[in-house]
Amino acid sequence: MQEHDLIVIGGGPGGYVAAIRAAQLGMNVACIDENEQPGGTCLRVGCIPSKAMLESSELYYQAKHSLSEHGVKFKHVELDLATMLHRKDKIVDTLTRGIKGLLKKNKVTHYQGRGRLDGAKRVVVTHNGKTTSLTAPHIIIATGSRSASLRGVELDGDRIVTSTEALAFSEVPKHLVVIGGGYIGLEMGSVWARLGAKVTVLEALDRILPATDKEIAERTHKLLEKQGIEFRLGVRVQSAKTKGKAVRVECEGGETVDCDRLLMAVGRVANTDDVGLDTVSVTTDRRGVIEVNHDFATSAAGVYAIGDCIPGPMLAHKASEEGVACVEKIAGRWAHVNYDTIPAVVYIHPEVAAVGRTEEQLQQDGVEYNKGAFPFVANGRAKTLGETEGMVKILADKKTDRVLGVHILGPRAGDLIHEAAAAMEFGAASEDIVRVCHAHPTLSESVHEAALAVTGRAIHI
Ligand code: NAD
Repeated sequence: MQEHDLIVIGGGPGGYVAAIRAAQLGMNVACIDENEQPGGTCLRVGCIPSKAMLESSELYYQAKHSLSEHGVKFKHVELDLATMLHRKDKIVDTLTRGIKGLLKKNKVTHYQGRGRLDGAKRVVVTHNGKTTSLTAPHIIIATGSRSASLRGVELDGDRIVTSTEALAFSEVPKHLVVIGGGYIGLEMGSVWARLGAKVTVLEALDRILPATDKEIAERTHKLLEKQGIEFRLGVRVQSAKTKGKAVRVECEGGETVDCDRLLMAVGRVANTDDVGLDTVSVTTDRRGVIEVNHDFATSAAGVYAIGDCIPGPMLAHKASEEGVACVEKIAGRWAHVNYDTIPAVVYIHPEVAAVGRTEEQLQQDGVEYNKGAFPFVANGRAKTLGETEGMVKILADKKTDRVLGVHILGPRAGDLIHEAAAAMEFGAASEDIVRVCHAHPTLSESVHEAALAVTGRAIHI
């Protein structure tokens, strides 16, 4: 029996970050992951490889379609998909090796295998048929999530796939159908559309990006349509069948769509069904999401949970924040995760980023607000980049002027959003953003102008 102060089950951005912070706080930590290289979905088959493919495919698209506007002309632009995929794999390999190195540097013991709770204070790790027993007074479950499935649509890893396989198609699909107009559907749809596939997104709701501010989502929809992605809204997929290389998708109402690859992107479910939760009576909701209190403690003494397997947005950075807060609390220190200021980014082109509440949420909550918006078309830097689509929108409380939500569709929105997140974390009013001198010429000036627009003082519109 190996003894530790803390055992973390799962080596993703929740688990490995918690393990490293706990080691920094002086704990003897075990981190269990079934893969030789830790990093979880995010590093191995999620955020990182998808961003690599998004960057590469965007460069290909620009070389083919828009660099000529800059006077940069190519006689012949050719796609070398094998090199693109290899580059992505190399980035993943380097980063996951880096995590392994960080665990080692911090003296975290990395156990390769599947970790399962085995009664109070015990975890069994199974790898290649061999088991190792560990014990610790504190155990964190950070087992993440996996792609949700649809009854009637059987994944085969080749023609009908999840994002994992869609990151590694060895040839560009002729027609890729995506079920779900959420984060994954739009990011992976963008990659393959830029590389030449016909892409059709089937979305059950009457809009895409259901959690995003509606105005921003509608503009995003139009921009993606201009980029060649076809959307069919209000279409609920019921089943799909393969015949050789062909896939037929059947939707409610009898409509059918034929394609050669089908990507399932209808959300994710918590990985909690094979973690031995029953051996210590950890309570979950009916979808297997673990219930926790403010300290990330579950219903079982000494067992905590963080990340995708507890409530909240399924985002790597949310999991990392929770991991740090959880171990700080275990160590008896003060910690807090502010769920009102967690940014979210969709890495399409241009990017979509948000922090705080949407207009619809404010209306639903009966909160009166002022709105300031500024279009990138009026921003000098955006013009020089040739990236003038989109806008910044700031929502501030009508009485107090406190910033309640910021929504950006536009170039580098994923970086711009952090000024808003920092402002909101400090409880800023839109006037506080106004009073910050923004360098010229930058995209950030659009955030400044949107803050000015909250009180009707924008200069450049
Ligand atoms: P999602 O929840 O973002 O979107 C799923 C979509 O599928 C919804 O719009 C839903 O209405 C639709 N849908 C469900 N059933 C359907 C059916 N039968 N027919 C047609 N449409 C249907 O889920 P996702 O895109 O799979 O992403 C999963 C999670 O991964 C998200 O929670 C997200 O937070 C995370 N993620 C984040 C990023 C990022 O941060 N950039 C990128 C990828 C994934």
